[in-house]
Amino acid sequence: MHWASTNLVMIMTTAGSSLLHASLREERGALQRYHTRIEDTLPTSFASSLKEKKLAAVAGGHQSLAKAIWCLETVGESQDVFIEAFADMKAGLFESAWVKLEQCDIVLHQLRPHFAEINDRFGIRHMTVHLRQFQELYPYTFGISPAFVFREVECSICSARLYLRPTCEHVSGEIYDGEMCGPIITNAELIEISLVENPSQKYSVIFPFGDEDPRLAHLKHVCEILGSPWTAWTYERETRTRHFGSDRRIRLTDECPCGSRETFGQCECPKELTFPHFEIAVGNETAFDPWGQPGSRRK
Ligand SMILES: [Zn+2]
Ligand SMILES: [Zn+2]
Repeated sequence: MHWASTNLVMIMTTAGSSLLHASLREERGALQRYHTRIEDTLPTSFASSLKEKKLAAVAGGHQSLAKAIWCLETVGESQDVFIEAFADMKAGLFESAWVKLEQCDIVLHQLRPHFAEINDRFGIRHMTVHLRQFQELYPYTFGISPAFVFREVECSICSARLYLRPTCEHVSGEIYDGEMCGPIITNAELIEISLVENPSQKYSVIFPFGDEDPRLAHLKHVCEILGSPWTAWTYERETRTRHFGSDRRIRLTDECPCGSRETFGQCECPKELTFPHFEIAVGNETAFDPWGQPGSRRK
């Protein structure tokens, strides 16, 4: 297969050559075979063996090795959650998948400053491009936007209380003893939750059916066509219009499908809905150009 014959491996990491450390060969191999895991997440032995190696690295003062291990753990986490999100979409569990895609995005974002690969040996580029595409196929328009006041925040590494300026030497997002430093909020007060609407997508307020939303069916369909979360695909979006003025299934006393809350008989709207139509192009990994722009494919 194409990826097996690719000899060019370029990995840049601030963990330097530690990522290529011989003691991590097995885990590296498992992560590079991501495309063989269509529904299976990594075995528990993957996490436990890395944890053991990390403790040994920290005990021996090998910070760059501990950091390389954190990178591999994080790559594994991103692959697992991406696989799970795909399985959820295929099973029609769209809300659960939505959360997992978001989680995958966050994990990749944390990884980015510490680990970059030029070709797609670990599927990072594939996930970055495709999780965005999956998100774009969702018809969601409403999002909850909470606002908090943080009362108490502490450092995740040394538990120092953080005020307006740092009180310890640890930098948020940096890796210490193989763990990422981040602020831990120990006391927060919720001041408001706002429901925000994306005004460019008004069509989506009409069928609020959750996982049963018929507009999500195409997403399930796409996942069935793809077969694997690791299949490369791209899409083109166009807007189509559906006229429902002569639809006999809608009674005059029904709510108008345009979302006006008036009855179908009384509503003076143009009796049409515009909705996005997606042309999906499925490629394989050989057609997927890791050097090209996101979503591009080789002709
Ligand atoms: Zn600290
Ligand atoms: Zn109407």
